[in-house]
Amino acid sequence: AATGGSTTVRQVKLDKECELRIETSLDLPLRLRLLTGTAEIFGTEIPPEIWLTIPPRLKFAVFTWYGATIEMDGPTETDYTADETPMISYINVHAVLDGRRNRAKASPSDSDTSQGPRVVVVGPTDSGKSTLSRMLLSWAAKQGWKPTFVDLDIGQGSITIPGCVAATPIELPIDPVEGIPLEMPMVYFFGHVTPSANIDHYKVLVKELAQTLEKQFSGNAESRASGMVINTMGWIEGVGYELLLHAIDTFSATVILVLGQEKLCSMLKDVLKNRPNVDVVKLQKSGGVVSRNAKVRQKARGYRIREYFYGPSNDLSPHSNVVNFGDLFIYRIGGGPQAPRSALPIGAEPAADPTRLVSVSINRDLLHLVLAVSYANEPDQIISSNVAGFIYVTDVDMHRKKITYLAPCAGELPSKYLIVGTLTWIEN
Ligand code: ADP
Repeated sequence: AATGGSTTVRQVKLDKECELRIETSLDLPLRLRLLTGTAEIFGTEIPPEIWLTIPPRLKFAVFTWYGATIEMDGPTETDYTADETPMISYINVHAVLDGRRNRAKASPSDSDTSQGPRVVVVGPTDSGKSTLSRMLLSWAAKQGWKPTFVDLDIGQGSITIPGCVAATPIELPIDPVEGIPLEMPMVYFFGHVTPSANIDHYKVLVKELAQTLEKQFSGNAESRASGMVINTMGWIEGVGYELLLHAIDTFSATVILVLGQEKLCSMLKDVLKNRPNVDVVKLQKSGGVVSRNAKVRQKARGYRIREYFYGPSNDLSPHSNVVNFGDLFIYRIGGGPQAPRSALPIGAEPAADPTRLVSVSINRDLLHLVLAVSYANEPDQIISSNVAGFIYVTDVDMHRKKITYLAPCAGELPSKYLIVGTLTWIEN
């Protein structure tokens, strides 16, 4: 049963294949350690004896395969033990993937058979997609593979801030507190938190990301054999469904894991039935997955952006920088709202190219927006270029023609080309 609000040091004994589900408090961290046995947090083993400091607002589970005793120190929103989990079915999937990786590794010279599994995780929002992706990646990394994590979920963002599609190799089990190391992600900036803002642009970025990875894989047998785990958006109806099919095609997926959705599973099985090399597998959603309403998700986006600048444990100090308007070139992708026909010369069609590059003039509308710094050398490369990082506009001085922005570090930006969308953040 949920205990909630407890603050004393306490021990919890977990039987085999059980998990302790915890929501840390809204403002205080929780200290936790493994006293006996073995246990993992979302696929990553926790070390014995050592106190872990779990930040506020985190929802997670400590799972044990063989039994464990956990000690906690500090308040929680809730904590309870569950003996029914889908973990056995998840680890069975891992075992199948592992077999496929081994087979791929055994034939390194054949470009087809040397390709390890490309797994797409699909399901509605809050079905545990990101969590399952994470477990599959950590279990694979524990066995020495270097799977590539691809995150197409622009609404939340496991690899970087929301509004991006991104990929990164996972070389070690993912740290339960620090998350995914931000050293080498390949990030494309969409700039909106829902694809409906510009479907064509979203598809272009997914394609760019897939092509870049394909190129990297062709020169790297280890990555190729390890394969990919691709996390997707929770939007699974209508256009959302089409975008799922687009992702499955674009990444040449071989395994589709469907979390907790009969209908989606049978739809996918049906459209993919003529592809013998694609398996569609239905998996149970964990009872521990916490549902988040739109407001909570929006807040989570804000925390994620904050984390980019300040670090997961508030351990980074971003820099405030000032530059002249003339030193930056800001672009957005797509024409935004189209000009009404009545505003155009007779006979002219509204320019509707959704992937057109549009120069943005600097004014106070940029305040509180998060912009991406492109790696492009020329403006016409912007749409197909990945980004170096992000800045946050904190002031626009129209008189002195200067912009003040927050960046993870001091000094000049790696490029003068910036991309803007609708991604905002109010620092708190
Ligand atoms: P999705 O990616 O489908 O939106 P997530 O994997 O992000 O869903 O899960 C939603 C939330 O539930 C996350 O905060 C996650 O940490 C939490 N969660 C997932 N599985 C468990 C579990 N077994 N116990 C406790 N919390 C969990």
